[in-house]
Amino acid sequence: MVTTRFAPSPTGRLHVGNLRTAIHNWMWARKAGGRFLLRIDDTDAERSSEENVEAIREDLAWIGLVPDAEERQSARFAIYESHFETLRAAGRIYPAYETPQELDLKRKILLGRGLPPVYDRAALNLSEAERAALEAEGRRPHWRFRLDHDAPMEWDDMVRGPQRFDPEKISDPVIRREDGSWLYLLPSVIDDIDLGITDVVRGEDHVTNTAVQVQMFAALGAQPPRFAHEALLTGAEGKLSKRLGSLGIDHFREGGIEPVALVALLARLGTSDPVEAVTRPQPLIETMDFARFGRAPARFDEGELAGLNARIVHQLDYDAVADRLPDTMEREGWAAIRPNLSTVGEAANWWAIVEGPFDAPVPGDDVEYLAQAAALADEIDWRDDPWRALTGALKERTGRKGKALFLPLRRALTGLGHGPDMAALLPLIGRERAIKRLRGQ
Ligand code: GLU
Repeated sequence: MVTTRFAPSPTGRLHVGNLRTAIHNWMWARKAGGRFLLRIDDTDAERSSEENVEAIREDLAWIGLVPDAEERQSARFAIYESHFETLRAAGRIYPAYETPQELDLKRKILLGRGLPPVYDRAALNLSEAERAALEAEGRRPHWRFRLDHDAPMEWDDMVRGPQRFDPEKISDPVIRREDGSWLYLLPSVIDDIDLGITDVVRGEDHVTNTAVQVQMFAALGAQPPRFAHEALLTGAEGKLSKRLGSLGIDHFREGGIEPVALVALLARLGTSDPVEAVTRPQPLIETMDFARFGRAPARFDEGELAGLNARIVHQLDYDAVADRLPDTMEREGWAAIRPNLSTVGEAANWWAIVEGPFDAPVPGDDVEYLAQAAALADEIDWRDDPWRALTGALKERTGRKGKALFLPLRRALTGLGHGPDMAALLPLIGRERAIKRLRGQ
């Protein structure tokens, strides 16, 4: 069974970038009829907060991503400890005592000689006595995972194709700090094995981690999952922007963006499939294919999102939005106003105009014309298409046409020079209100 996981660290709110990763994980699992898990990566107790965990859950729920289960790394320390002991006994994990300053110096020396700054494994060559001496000095070790220089570091990435790394060019990664706290690499692999993760979908900033993790899976006696590393998102200006990293769900929710618009854009951005104005994610799920994901960074453009949102709003059924509309606004009202909206929230503004009152604009030269219109509005049949009846009669009576015929009416009836189709709006305004407005009352 395909099982994916979205694994945010609750050190902040979700932003567009990790939301996109969440969406892809969710879609991939749903497409296969599999499972989508939320894994809270809260090994860093200091930087994680319960408030952020709650916000992550809420944000995912708002966008419609319901995990089949939730796991927390902070509840799994005992499991990590036992694997740590096994790997240590097997010689795959070793203690190292260098201070950050010493490591920095080593790096600088290598770089100065034009060599890759790979850790020299000096700690592996320490004798028992040397180690004891360091500990007696009060030094506490951090822990490194010993890469197997003879074993492959390769996988066939669902986005990037075949990947291959040379273990000799990579430092044995630090997996645990002096204070016993965990770095991300090993717990993630232990969880992926334990939770039966079949497909790891994440940003391409994790590619080198994957190279190392492929060996960790092997060291723990497990088959690595499939990997898909997606190209990163950039802002519209083409750079990785700070703004993008800070754009959270709140910003979109407050801006009237529909959850499905965000899904529709993020699902397809950077793929060779077009962004489509869908009202439900199902068609996107059915066609999802990592082979269609591009290698170049994808541009996230808020303007594109706003445009997509409007196209989606224009298709939403009354029942899908009724609870967000003014109480008195019914099906006909929604149908009349919907084509003019960028967001569902704007419907209330148009509805306020239908219901009035509003400050009527000064009619100017059109006083006489509007008086005629008011008189005719009193005579016409309101049951069928009053706008057609009114404008038809006015045209005949006054000889006006085009803008001169319509615009003064629109202004008097709505207070504005633009807006929804008057043929749809006038029946909603109704006879009584219309006559009053045309009379300037
Ligand atoms: N907590 C990690 C992150 O947010 C998870 C990476 C992964 O998906 O393995 O980058």
